[in-house]
Amino acid sequence: MANSQASLYKLLSKHSSNQQVAAGEEIFNYGDAADKVYLIHRGLVGIFIEEDGEEKEVDRVKSGQIFGEVALLEQEDRSCRALAHKDTVLIIFAPEDMRKLVQEQPFLNKQLVTSLCQRIKHLQNSAIDFPEIKIDAEAEEIDVEKDSTEEDAIEEVKPEQDDKEPVEGATDFYLPGHGKYPQVAEADFDNYLYTKEVQCPVCTAEIEVKKVRNSRLRLQEIREDLRPVYKNFEPDWYKIWICTECFYTARKADFLNFEARQLKKIKTEFKDKVQTMLGADYQPSYSEPRKLSEVFTAYYLSIQLYRLIEARADKLGYLWLRLSWLYEDVEAEELSAEASFKALKYFKNFHFGPDASSISTSQENKLTILLAMLYYKHDEPKEAVTLLSKLVHNPKTKRAHKKMAKERFLKIRKELRAKKEG
Ligand SMILES: [Zn+2]
Repeated sequence: MANSQASLYKLLSKHSSNQQVAAGEEIFNYGDAADKVYLIHRGLVGIFIEEDGEEKEVDRVKSGQIFGEVALLEQEDRSCRALAHKDTVLIIFAPEDMRKLVQEQPFLNKQLVTSLCQRIKHLQNSAIDFPEIKIDAEAEEIDVEKDSTEEDAIEEVKPEQDDKEPVEGATDFYLPGHGKYPQVAEADFDNYLYTKEVQCPVCTAEIEVKKVRNSRLRLQEIREDLRPVYKNFEPDWYKIWICTECFYTARKADFLNFEARQLKKIKTEFKDKVQTMLGADYQPSYSEPRKLSEVFTAYYLSIQLYRLIEARADKLGYLWLRLSWLYEDVEAEELSAEASFKALKYFKNFHFGPDASSISTSQENKLTILLAMLYYKHDEPKEAVTLLSKLVHNPKTKRAHKKMAKERFLKIRKELRAKKEG
């Protein structure tokens, strides 16, 4: 095998070029032109897709495997992102050369088919949890050594939600006016879910969580404020995981990714904090089927937790944004506006703070559009057009995001002009 591969590489080198990529470096990003096919000579590459504002890893490609093969289908843009997990050497083909080679080399053909089948399998089975790789450039989900800057970034919003103020009971836990929401998850929500056991990173208890079968989601529309709407299902009801033992509550995306010092703080302080606010016998849980009131509480619990561990400002922005959408669904307009105003404040702090440079260009683009639309919603259309225009004119902006920004920019500018004239 090693021999046949060596001669194959020799042959390949005639039709290809080499590229070395350092660990953590991006190979291609969303919206990049899909004009190359890659064979990994040595190394490890992660393939990521964005779903519902979150990025997840759907495949890991090793030495001797191929990726980027959609270029052979003459697809225009990349709909995924490839990132080197280790120092990697790539052999790069133009699609037409690859087609020629595949005809001459049955081995390659088999490689391609295997690689494609593997990818399809991974995409259909969202249950794969790849082991964490610490050198991953996706360090934004892992929060490394940012203690001081984190504090700076959230300082501005602190006075409003000061942890040091005496807690006066449950009324401080929810936004004032938070009501009773009797809605329960629809029966066919189960089709989109499966149960999984995970170990709580705080207290090590084995807990059951519901995970979403991403392959079954059908995106209906992406609203102007970037809210994705799915057919017959709302994944946001299942985004927050709870440990019923120690009360640890966090977004699925963060659940296994907080730092040791943060986990320690949660272990020693969080349960007490919650029981001080909600009563000594308070016990968080999800029913079967899940109740909307429990979903709301889960988001509020995680907000308390993220504030306790001084999580990055955009993470708190995300939680408030989801809350504003949930309120929107039950026509609680004022609460929705209040929650989205909090999201605006957190995203603003993040965007103009020092941590903004720690996320990928693609995520940064998306967050900027989100921030602009929140400005627009809260009657600051000029701030919105400024941000959108910057994004449209920045050569680094990804093509897909440029398009989204431009559409929204034109619409808001038109409205501003109409207002001026009328
Ligand atoms: Zn726990």
